[in-house]
Amino acid sequence: MSQQTIKQLADLLVGGKTSSVELCQDYLARIATHNPNLNAFISVDAERTLAEARAADAARAAGQAGPLTGVPIAHKDIFCAEGWLTTCGSKMLYNFVSPYDAHVISRFKAAGMPTLGKTNMDEFAMGSSNETSYYGPVKNPWDSARVPGGSSGGSAACVAAGLAPAATGTDTGGSIRQPAALCGITGLKPTYGVVSRYGMIAFASSLDQAGPMAQSAEDCALLLNVMAGFDGRDSTSLEREKEDYGRDLAKPLNGLRIGLPKEFFGAGLSGDTAQAVQAAIDEFRKLGATTVEVSLPNSGLSVAAYYVIAPAEASSNLSRFDGVRYGYRTPDYADLTDLYEKSRAEGFGAEVKRRIMIGTYVLSHGYYDAYYIQAQKLRRLIANDFAEAYKACDVILGPTAPTTAFKLGEKADDPVQMYLSDIYTIAVNLAGLPGMSLPCGFDGQGLPIGLQLIGDYFSEARMLNVAHQYQLATDWHQRTPGGF
Ligand code: GLN
Repeated sequence: MSQQTIKQLADLLVGGKTSSVELCQDYLARIATHNPNLNAFISVDAERTLAEARAADAARAAGQAGPLTGVPIAHKDIFCAEGWLTTCGSKMLYNFVSPYDAHVISRFKAAGMPTLGKTNMDEFAMGSSNETSYYGPVKNPWDSARVPGGSSGGSAACVAAGLAPAATGTDTGGSIRQPAALCGITGLKPTYGVVSRYGMIAFASSLDQAGPMAQSAEDCALLLNVMAGFDGRDSTSLEREKEDYGRDLAKPLNGLRIGLPKEFFGAGLSGDTAQAVQAAIDEFRKLGATTVEVSLPNSGLSVAAYYVIAPAEASSNLSRFDGVRYGYRTPDYADLTDLYEKSRAEGFGAEVKRRIMIGTYVLSHGYYDAYYIQAQKLRRLIANDFAEAYKACDVILGPTAPTTAFKLGEKADDPVQMYLSDIYTIAVNLAGLPGMSLPCGFDGQGLPIGLQLIGDYFSEARMLNVAHQYQLATDWHQRTPGGF
């Protein structure tokens, strides 16, 4: 049961071959066995999960089931979920039980999909390795000495290890795509504004976007159908006609024009990754696609622009954590200022503090023009590069990450090396475009390699079509790590 896709599980439920309670019991048992080693979950609450499963089975028996009713899913611990501990990977929220549901959570509840647990993540989604989590690092199921990527590392690891059939993630600079690549699963970051950010703990609001992490593009389409949609409680949520993201899955790829950005295939890309991506390009040609070289001349500046804009927004967003209303409060304080200072000094980890300090600096009088405004100008240039590229192609293809999973601790003391893990993903967030990662091979050490597809605005259905056709022709996405 453990490596079945969402689609297969839904079919079993429709055919009466299993129940939601049975499925949830099976996954909960796997979590109990493997999570002590993987550390992919921060919270598991079997009673709550099974109550939701019973309700799903009852809805089905009453003829009120939707397409995914009864299929369980894990949620990144960045989503507020009523009655669940919601920590965002931080000591700052170590005791925060959310009194309400994020829009994404309420969508999955309305679809009848039980929550299997809350997954581990980098603290406040800041990181590329899951090592900044207050709850300890997550291990990569392919090699427990290595990182799963981040910040949605718990979500990626639990899907790769079959502890959940799918999970939610969020992506501010690559946090769905990079861990999906490092764990050998499929993940999609939608166009900015397609999925509501309501109840998703804010990191950098103009970049944050939630999306599905699953075993296949087909599953991502099914999950995006649940997650997407207008929500008046998020001022950047887009009011668009409802679409079926799976509508184009079966289309052949004849005539598809794939853009290959020359900047994505230069120095810094590991040989194994370059080779696997090249083999994927050959496969797409066999499937009827043509390729064209495109250029994203400003993409080399995307990491620099991001590390001004994202910390600036984070410094503002994280000012709400002050020890007063909820979350961590220092036990000893002299007065109000002391309470703020000590609660924040003790509640936040080193990476979060680094970002708050950078953000406060770049927004301060005298530096605002020199850094923040410059970064915003770069952001526009980066978006313009993509617009220019899409005149010549339908979808852009390249590697998701420069290397496969690195060792735990390998980059932990070198923030700049860590930041470069997102060199191919960050421009996509700055431009607000949709992007996805899917497995396309393994390196010499048996570690999964991710292929990135970047679409034009609102082209999720087309991107999923491209990914699905590739997955019909290859079986990389069906490989699973040993021992699970
Ligand atoms: N790794 C990037 C960072 O640390 C992106 C994180 C994310 O997408 N949430 O900010």
